[in-house]
Amino acid sequence: MSYATVNPFTGELVKKFPDSTDAEVEQAITDADDRFKLWRTTSFKERAAVMQKAADILRKSKREFAKILTLEMGKIIGEAEAEVELSAQIFEYYAVNAEKLLKPEKIEVANPDEGEFTLVHEPLGVILAVEPWNFPYYQIARIIAPQLSAGNTMLLKHASNVPQSAAAFEKLMLDAGLPKGGFKNLYPNRSQVEKIISDPRVCGVALTGSEVAGAIVASQAAKALKKSTMELGGADAFIVLADADMDKTVKWAVFGRHWNGGQVCVSSKRMIIVDEVYDTFFEKYKEGVAGLRAGDPMDPKTDLAPLSSQGAVDELKEKIKEAVKNGAKAIEVGPKVPEKGSFMQPTILTDVTPDNPAYYQEFFGPVSMLFRAKDEDDAVRIANDSPYGLGGSVFTSDTKHGAEVAAKVSTGMVFVNHPTIVKADVPFGGVRNSGYGRELTSLGIKEFVNKKVIGVV
Ligand code: NDP
Repeated sequence: MSYATVNPFTGELVKKFPDSTDAEVEQAITDADDRFKLWRTTSFKERAAVMQKAADILRKSKREFAKILTLEMGKIIGEAEAEVELSAQIFEYYAVNAEKLLKPEKIEVANPDEGEFTLVHEPLGVILAVEPWNFPYYQIARIIAPQLSAGNTMLLKHASNVPQSAAAFEKLMLDAGLPKGGFKNLYPNRSQVEKIISDPRVCGVALTGSEVAGAIVASQAAKALKKSTMELGGADAFIVLADADMDKTVKWAVFGRHWNGGQVCVSSKRMIIVDEVYDTFFEKYKEGVAGLRAGDPMDPKTDLAPLSSQGAVDELKEKIKEAVKNGAKAIEVGPKVPEKGSFMQPTILTDVTPDNPAYYQEFFGPVSMLFRAKDEDDAVRIANDSPYGLGGSVFTSDTKHGAEVAAKVSTGMVFVNHPTIVKADVPFGGVRNSGYGRELTSLGIKEFVNKKVIGVV
């Protein structure tokens, strides 16, 4: 049995969940396929009513939903409530916009006398979502809200450490009026996931997670000639130019690196500071990080969460050890974190050179890498010297110039004077090893639709 709730703050095994049986998996696919045939014929208005109801329920029971996140992956309760609200916003966004986003488009042809051509967007069928534990609700919302709104039906394989969050969302959708078979949570093992992907009734898979999982699931989809989208890791650059407002910049740097315990694909993982202000930034950043208080994630005064599991802490410590072995300097910052629970001491890594494997790695927790850039061009060069290409940011008092620098950063998203933003109405996704495809807005809803041409000649 690999699905279980373990409280990261206490280490207590709260509850185990049995794996899905083969018969349950088969039934879920059948139900989802049967439901698709009906769901695809429903109006946008009917689907919007379900999405809006889901948003309303999330808001009404915000605290109850949030407590499950805090229990299962240690998220600070305030951040958990914010995640519930963000998920509600995503449902609401598609309730309001899905019809408009998928409306038929007239195709402009060179000679209109040759006929009228229209692009329509038809749902594909059953889609599988494979999701990670770092935002247990948001990750589900940002795939099911657009796909259910488009007329697809969904199966979910969530991370094995957040089974209650997954179950809460299945119940949420039923309570919102989504008919049985529209969205089903499973607790499948690896081979069952592969079987789902290769089943002819399943039309695509969306995964968020590590590069390793992404490569495996993407290749399974490719083998079955299925569409896939991959939202994988990131090592966002946080570029600080000489004219940046240092106090505001440091505040955002501390937040950008440490929210959600530093376990965000778009955490500001690489601080790249131009030489002139490097020392000032370094001192103020250390001070800022030292001000974080680790503790009970249910306590509103806590601002540094435990990591999602003890395994995550052990892996991170091992990576730091390797980085140091290869020449990096590691500075532990702030008061000692509690010994009990899966806490990780905030750590700053400096002197990480390109011959150090850490230079190209993603640290999934409160570990900051600081780089001294010779100048602005050098900062952009360091930012782009990464296998990842997810988000990033540029801090400067000259926002027009900031946008010019942002244009040179090779990622899917770059923000001036803010760490990478996660918002219901802004698309999300990256390039290179950060994956492919986009989630949210019109881009997300069009990932799993048949963009079909109807020509009248
Ligand atoms: P994983 O990529 O292992 O897990 C993400 C999801 O993929 C989980 O549901 C997991 O299931 C599933 N999965 C993993 N391997 C397979 C497989 N072979 N076949 C089918 N499903 C699979 O992430 P981890 O939780 O292990 O985190 C490891 C690293 O991933 C982090 O350190 C970070 O770098 C990155 N990550 C990135 C995230 C992002 O938002 N982009 C989010 C989380 C992690 P199960 O839990 O059962 O293994």
